[in-house]
Formats: sequence, C-alpha cells, structure tokens
Amino acid sequence: MKELFFEKNFNLSDKQIEKFESCYNLLIEYNNKFNITAITDKKEVYIKHFIDSILSEKEFNNYSLLDVGSGGGFPAIPLKIVNENLTVSMLEATEKKCEFLRAVVNNLNLTNVNVINGRAEEFALKKEYREGYDICSARAVARLNILAEYCMPFVKVGGTFLAFKGEIGLEELSEAENAIKTLGGQIDKIEEFDLFGNKRYVIHVKKIKRTDLKYPRKNGQIRKKPL
Ligand code: SAM
Repeated sequence: MKELFFEKNFNLSDKQIEKFESCYNLLIEYNNKFNITAITDKKEVYIKHFIDSILSEKEFNNYSLLDVGSGGGFPAIPLKIVNENLTVSMLEATEKKCEFLRAVVNNLNLTNVNVINGRAEEFALKKEYREGYDICSARAVARLNILAEYCMPFVKVGGTFLAFKGEIGLEELSEAENAIKTLGGQIDKIEEFDLFGNKRYVIHVKKIKRTDLKYPRKNGQIRKKPL
C-alpha cells in the first residue's frame, strides 16, 4: 500500500506504514463486533479513510487538534500517524467506537492522544475544552451549518475549524455563511483534492473572534433551527 501513498506524494517511513497496517487490521477485527465502517476492502480503506484523512496534512505541525465525531478515527488517527508532534483528542458520542479508538491508540503506541466519549454540544460548554484547541476537525458528521456550531466553540481565536467534505460541501457553504459568522469565524480557504478520481475538499474556517457563550445550543435546536 506504500505506493498508494507515494502516488499522492506521501513518502512514508516503514514504521508509519506498519502503523497504518495495524490500524487496518484492528478496524476489520472490531468492525465485526461494532459496525464502525461500511468500507472494508483494503485498498478502499487506504484511499477513502487513510489517504482522504491526510490530504491536507501539510497544514498541521505541533498543533493541538480536537476531532469531533471521530467514529473509526478519521481524520484524527491518520493525521497523528503522519504528524508525530500533533496533540490529538478524539470526541466521539458512541462508547463502542471509543473502545475501538482506545485499542488503536494502545496498539499503535500513539502518544499525546486522548479519547473522549461524549457529545460536542455538551463538551463545548465545559471550560477545559472551550476555545482550547488550535484546530477542530470533522468529517462526515453533519451539514456545515450544524457542524460549525458543534466545532467553532472548541477553536482558539486564531485557530481553525477544518471541515472535510465531498462535493456536496460546496453546496453547503452558502447555507453555512451565517452560522460561521455568528460563531466568530471567517472562511479562510478551500482546498480541493483529487482522491483517485473523486473530488474532496477541506474547508478552512479561521476563528477571528470568540464564540458567544450562548453557543452551542441544545442539539435539538441546532438541528431544527440551524444558524
Ligand atoms: N469522522 C468519521 C469518519 O469520517 O469516518 C466518522 C463519521 S460517522 C458517519 C459520524 C460519527 O460522528 C459517528 O460515530 C457519531 O457517533 C459521531 N457524532 C455525531 N454527532 C456527534 C456529536 N454531536 N458529538 C460527538 N460525536 C458525534
């Protein structure tokens, strides 16, 4: 699978490839019990989960990242594998998925990685998490206007909310304009990638001012009446 990474200009070490291999094996093992991913074919997992997660990796360094709705650990785990210095927290609502994420962290010996079982709209109200991260990422969790309310409160002023999206993400952009502004953000840039024939986008929202304490609202309201 090293060649797949290479085709996308990622020259990974044998150790990093080994970690991706272990991650794949655990994903398949746990998927039988917990239903973590619909994609199980090895090449597809590498492309649609692993490589998709790191397309934007040059943007990361020694940052602290909170990944909302990590599920099987995407994009957080691949990002950690390719950026050893990244400090990662994965916030996931389903405990069974957290159990899988902890197994990955232990098996791959990932350091400075924290798994949190909980909901974004509840944890964002806690002092120790609010505006505590350089980056808040999310992939396949909700439409952009809803996702912004989950994620923006976690980002420090000057930091970035990163939404990993397919082509649909661009349609969601205009719908999310008001939410992004209300929550203290501003679209910084939109990266476009070709993932072996599929268009993928990473939307960068810069946090330019603090998020009003009335956000996030309760989940019912966020979903029924998006900003
Ligand atoms: N990010 C992963 C990926 O791209 O493969 C998982 C995507 S999965 C479709 C969405 C995940 O987000 C689920 O595991 C779900 O439990 C979690 N989730 C949804 N809403 C959430 C919330 N408000 N707070 C935390 N996790 C949430």
